[in-house]
Order: sequence, then C-alpha cells, then structure tokens
Amino acid sequence: MVAPEVGRIGDKIATQAKRLAPPTKQWVTVGDDRVRHTHVQTEGQTVPNNLRFKVPSMDWDRRHRGLGAYTYMKAPRDQTSRAVANIKNCRCRTASDPAGISRGINTRPPVVAGNRVTMTVVCEGDLVVQAELGDVYPGGLVAAGAHFMAKAVSTVAADYQ
Ligand SMILES: [Zn+2]
Repeated sequence: MVAPEVGRIGDKIATQAKRLAPPTKQWVTVGDDRVRHTHVQTEGQTVPNNLRFKVPSMDWDRRHRGLGAYTYMKAPRDQTSRAVANIKNCRCRTASDPAGISRGINTRPPVVAGNRVTMTVVCEGDLVVQAELGDVYPGGLVAAGAHFMAKAVSTVAADYQ
C-alpha cells in the first residue's frame, strides 16, 4: 500500500514546516496611564515575526509624515514606519512565541480515491498566508515571506532524489 508511505512523507513535511515556521510576536505595553492611546489599542496584537504590527496613526504623523489611518511597525519605536510622534518615548516591547505559528500546522490522513493518494498538510492561523508569502503595506513597505511551507516541501523532496 502506498498510502502509509504518503502519510509518512506528509508527516515529514509537517515536522519540517513546524521547525521552519517563524515565531509570532505580541505588542506589550507597560500598562500604566501614560501609554499613548494608539498603543493601548495595539496592546495584545499578535503577528508573525516577519510581518508588521498595524498601529493606529497619531494625528501629528498623519499631518506631517504623510501616514494614513494606520502606521505599520516591525516593533515598537520602528523608525522604518516613518512615524515620529507614534514612536517618541515609547516604552512598549514585544513578546515572542516561538510556536505561535507551528501550533497551527497539522496533517490530514491520506485519502485514497481510485489511483490517487492525497495527503494534506495544513497551516491555519491569523496572517499565516502573509507569513508564508510576504505582504505589502501602504507607503511601499514590504515584508518578505518566510516561505516555511515551501521550504519544508523542498527539504523533504530532496530526501527522495
Ligand atoms: Zn508604546
């Protein structure tokens, strides 16, 4: 039977994908009454590590820095976001979760239909498609894709050549 072998291949791909998946990062404020309102609204937001947080813009940055309704930051105080008011004196930090994406990677059992065996490896979670393929933000900011699913397939395929 070929189905068990296909199942083993799928399991190997899932194992590699979990190893290669980027962590997630969460925006954490210090939680006191001096945290600016835009960061209070961002508290707890969780995104894949290769992507940007979506932070409400501050009026000063909208008027003087040409930003839209949101400012896209890799981390607190990210100057590449082009914000000034929204990063000045910021005391926020990020908390990393190494398994934030890998927990959503799973396999479905092999399905035999006629002369075809299909094995599915699934990655489910917020922004996982953008984590894999990358994203483009207003203002031409680009996040590169992590390509962890594609690399997992390539890595396992190399074992069979
Ligand atoms: Zn802050």
